[in-house]
Amino acid sequence: MQNRVFNFNPGPSALPVAVLNQIQEELLNYKSTGMSILETSHRSPEYEEINTSTITLFKELMGIGNEFHVLFVGGGASTQFAHIPLNFLPKGGRAAYVDTGTWASKAAQEAERIGNVHLAGSSKGADYTCIPGASELEIPEDSAYLHITSNNTIKGTQWHSFPDTENIPIVCDMSSDICSRKLDFSRFSLTYAGAQKNLGPSGVTVVIIRDDFLQKCNPDLPTMFDYRTHVSKKSLFNTPPVFAIYMLNLVLTWINNLGGLGELEKITKAKKDIIYNLIDTYPDYFRGTVRKDSRSWMNVTLRLPSEELEQKLVAKGKESGFVGLKGHRSVGGIRVSLYNGVPLEAAEKVAEFMEDFKKEN
Ligand SMILES: *Cc1c(COP(=O)(O)O)cnc(C)c1O
Repeated sequence: MQNRVFNFNPGPSALPVAVLNQIQEELLNYKSTGMSILETSHRSPEYEEINTSTITLFKELMGIGNEFHVLFVGGGASTQFAHIPLNFLPKGGRAAYVDTGTWASKAAQEAERIGNVHLAGSSKGADYTCIPGASELEIPEDSAYLHITSNNTIKGTQWHSFPDTENIPIVCDMSSDICSRKLDFSRFSLTYAGAQKNLGPSGVTVVIIRDDFLQKCNPDLPTMFDYRTHVSKKSLFNTPPVFAIYMLNLVLTWINNLGGLGELEKITKAKKDIIYNLIDTYPDYFRGTVRKDSRSWMNVTLRLPSEELEQKLVAKGKESGFVGLKGHRSVGGIRVSLYNGVPLEAAEKVAEFMEDFKKEN
């Protein structure tokens, strides 16, 4: 692929080349309509087909049935931070939140603007380098829901098992690891994710909501803030982000063609193992920043012996065709993001580059 770099951007991030090629092919003349999908009504049969098949693909890939609704909305995951408590945090009630990093605490802060938040657990004391164990969580029985963030994009931690909350619904921000591994998705009453890390471009947020949870939503909200509006109109109440959903469809089809989430998970694991092996082989040089049992399979975070070396690695990487390796501005260091669109070859090549860099520096 001429002039393509190995792209480790944390989001928006790499997309499968096959998908980009297909978009290019279809851009001027979508399915013999003589126009682009960008120029097509969202009420057209062509778009209806995209909308319906994207919903079906999600349900198939995630192994969830018709008790779940799949919605495509705007505003990013950050808007969901408010929409969720607006809909599900009743007056006088409370919701439980686990604070595992920047996005998790932003979600909790938004909820605090709307109602009572109970801090069910936190890894703040450990500088967010781990996920609290199930026994460390304290979830009041009267919680309207428990909110967790399955992958912490900035610090590089991930939940590898989920708490058994019995009757308390789990709400999960999966923005940075959705559809990268096989999970029992039926455990989550509401899952949401901005598409721009693992599923497609920015501009669309996926919300997957179980019908029994939907029934509990606040009936007094403005139309666009009420999840039921989007459920009843199949995300076509107003003009949806058509192009982003079309791309989502292509990425899901690509995952399906790979063999689904089971097969994709094998690739995910192979990629993260390559980078963590480097950390485990040279722990004094490539200093992993998180506890082993909480390691993210999506965002591998590490420090080098000095900030100078880190800057040098980022700059040298860029020169050599490896972009996006700089850690988040709030934490520094190196971050290797390995989302779905990042091929195995990219992980292999960047590991070789890092090992060579170590020898030379
Ligand atoms: C990137 C990210 C967000 C923010 O998503 P927006 O779509 O930009 O609002 C929220 N949560 C997590 C876990 C993220 O990684």
